[in-house]
Amino acid sequence: MTKRADERHIDNMVRRRSHFEDLEVSELFCPSCRAARPVRKHLLLVLPTGHKYEYRCAACGTPVGGKDDNDAREYREILLRT
Ligand SMILES: [Zn+2]
Repeated sequence: MTKRADERHIDNMVRRRSHFEDLEVSELFCPSCRAARPVRKHLLLVLPTGHKYEYRCAACGTPVGGKDDNDAREYREILLRT
């Protein structure tokens, strides 16, 4: 019965993760190109409270937006690895 609980837990994590990825931005308006451009997501910082990202235009590299998340898991994993 513990196995069944584990499986349900993993299933929930997978579902939450794919929902999170649906929110990812793929295009933003770039003021330099004066058009909507595909963006590249750059990880700026890994903070104890989550990640700090910056979106940059894939064509010219102009920062067009940013995003923070509250996912502190990676920070804890880094601490555990070192
Ligand atoms: Zn651009």
